[in-house]
Amino acid sequence: MSREQQAVARARKAFETGRSKCLDYRIMQLESLKRLFTERQKEIADALKKDLNKVRSEVASQLYETMGLEGEINLAVKNLKSWAAPRPVEKNLLTLMDTVYIRPEPVGVVLVIGAWNYPWAVTIQPLIGAIAAGNAAVIKPSEVCVHTAKVMEEFLPAYIDKELYPVVTGGVTETQELLRQRFDHIFYTGNSMVGKIIMEAAAKHLTPVTLELGGKSPCYIDKNCDITIACRRVAWGKYTNCGQTCIAPDYILCESSIQDRVIAEIKKAVKEFYTENPQTCTDYGRVINQRHFKRIMALIDDSTVAVGGQNEEANCYIAPTVLRDVKPDAKVMQEEIFGPVLPIITVSGLNEAIKFINKGEKPLALYVFTSDDKVIQKMIEETSSGAILANDCLVHYSISALPFGGVGNSGMGCYHGKFTFDQLSHLRSCLIKKLNMEGANTMRYPPHTPTKLNRARFFILKTANLGWIGWMMTLALFVVVAAIAIKKRITS
Ligand code: NAD
Repeated sequence: MSREQQAVARARKAFETGRSKCLDYRIMQLESLKRLFTERQKEIADALKKDLNKVRSEVASQLYETMGLEGEINLAVKNLKSWAAPRPVEKNLLTLMDTVYIRPEPVGVVLVIGAWNYPWAVTIQPLIGAIAAGNAAVIKPSEVCVHTAKVMEEFLPAYIDKELYPVVTGGVTETQELLRQRFDHIFYTGNSMVGKIIMEAAAKHLTPVTLELGGKSPCYIDKNCDITIACRRVAWGKYTNCGQTCIAPDYILCESSIQDRVIAEIKKAVKEFYTENPQTCTDYGRVINQRHFKRIMALIDDSTVAVGGQNEEANCYIAPTVLRDVKPDAKVMQEEIFGPVLPIITVSGLNEAIKFINKGEKPLALYVFTSDDKVIQKMIEETSSGAILANDCLVHYSISALPFGGVGNSGMGCYHGKFTFDQLSHLRSCLIKKLNMEGANTMRYPPHTPTKLNRARFFILKTANLGWIGWMMTLALFVVVAAIAIKKRITS
């Protein structure tokens, strides 16, 4: 048995003991996981620093990774009893006398495959939902963040049930071996190409998947807006984590009349956030590795640099960069940039911006900056994306009440808050009838007659909102019909 097979078998055996289903046990595991973030903050931050080429200060690690996880745990602990409780549903005429509800149940063993750019956030957030929903979970951190993966491998078993939630480290070979095993759900975060490999592997076992992917998230800046504030927010959204954020604004669309202002304001914001020389600023990051450094540098060589462009391969530094008058067929527009490069494409206005966006794949996030509510509404009405955010960047990620996920090429399924719980639960339909009122069923039994059909039509189709009096009258009618049917059966 391979190491991966063993981990899955152990997790399934632990799941079969039933202990992960107990609500108190789930809460205990979540509380313990939360302690890891406070007690091991230093180890977490040190590993992130090593992995992400000094991208992260300890403050940034907490701000962008573990604080959100603590919030998600608090929310799950506070609401778990109500999330896991049976959910009564609306009744119709045929179920009036029955017990009808939805019962959220654990699905079984979940595989969580994380990405490297926010390695704690994207790996542990699905785990929180898996624990809350009563599942076992095999955790596969990204091999690109080798130090963080090690910290996870060392400390997760010390804080949470190591049989139920084993960590499997390794690269593509290990992930592929895991993918050959049978899971009850696969939760993958990463790029769309690998997303297809995940889905293909899952199909062999008919395993449902959640795919949290990426893509090019457009950002339209309307001329009717406070361009200074818009550009500060865009610069923060783009250059945080050195542009390596799945929902970073990938490119700007704006009218040519404001392009120079946009460039000047972004330049100003970059200076404010990262000083005159971002290379020496502790809050400015590095590209993850030389492969990505080379990829990003190759993307910009057929466009005009308006801001930044300085770079140093030895330490994967690329300055916050803006490209001007970028052509739609430029290299930088052919793939997700995932680096600190911000192209500007000029359009004649909102209509052309919408056309441009709709020609591409459906994005994970879509940003619009404007003071005009009609522009926001038109953008919402005429486009599709995982999320749309007006007049800010990234922050929708932190709102647990909103489902986070893609559509089309940017992913499938969603999570955060109760959405993670539901995503990793089986919502089981429960209908509990009694063996009385048999007369009401005669309309469905043969011999089928037009009279029975009319009765069936009435009971099945008349589900309009009747109000309290209407329901009482219908109930009375229902009882009368049932009584007549029973009487007829007895006398015949
Ligand atoms: P990555 O290289 O860390 O890969 C992610 C996972 O896929 C890893 O655990 C790795 O082991 C596995 N993997 C890689 N190649 C594989 C293969 N051939 N077969 C099986 N498994 C394989 O991360 P990445 O893909 O470079 O991450 C960046 C991408 O992720 C970007 O596109 C970004 O937009 C996206 N992303 C999306 C979200 C989201 O929430 N939607 C969050 C973060 C990143």
